[in-house]
Amino acid sequence: MQRVHYPDQGAASGFDSSLRGPYHARAMANLLRDRRPAAEWASVAQVIEIEEKIGSFKGLAEVVAADLAALDPDKLPSDWREMIVSGELRFDFLDAERHVPAVTGSATAEVSAVCQRCLEPFQLTLAVDARLLLLEEQQTVDGYDGFEVWELEGNTLRPQDLLEELLIMALPFSAMHDNMAVCKALSTKNDGADELTRPFAALRARMEQKHNGPDE
Ligand SMILES: [Zn+2]
Repeated sequence: MQRVHYPDQGAASGFDSSLRGPYHARAMANLLRDRRPAAEWASVAQVIEIEEKIGSFKGLAEVVAADLAALDPDKLPSDWREMIVSGELRFDFLDAERHVPAVTGSATAEVSAVCQRCLEPFQLTLAVDARLLLLEEQQTVDGYDGFEVWELEGNTLRPQDLLEELLIMALPFSAMHDNMAVCKALSTKNDGADELTRPFAALRARMEQKHNGPDE
């Protein structure tokens, strides 16, 4: 059994139906983990609504766990694996001949992370956009600006793998409170502030030099 959602039903109706009960949620989870040929996902214009726990993305959860390992055990957020990844993936062919399958969509997730400035846990919002051509190894196509290439395994795709890789790539190299007011390192006046801000000041100076300079 599969549930096929066509794009013209609209995102709003899909969202409403996701609230109806566990059957729908289970069906969606199965689709995310199904491995099928990319052409098959595209030929039914499959739409997959995502409502998954961080813990179900093993690779992502490993990266988050490694980051959180720096915390004192009493500061570790107990429920970080239960946080939800939500969004939507839409499959279709981009060409009339139906040779170029692609996936578009977006997802957001709240991920627990350790602020590298103050070493306190905080919630990091990840937001990813997918605009991917689904191509086999060695396959190339021209004329799809704005799309990146996702290399299929053979000709198949497991949507969860793709989503997980996008989320992992969206993790910052160095996670930090973006709200200065709540970051303990910055709220303690000038203590060590010079040292902490210097790398950014240096980077900003380099960028300004580049932008203002007559040439490179
Ligand atoms: Zn902080």
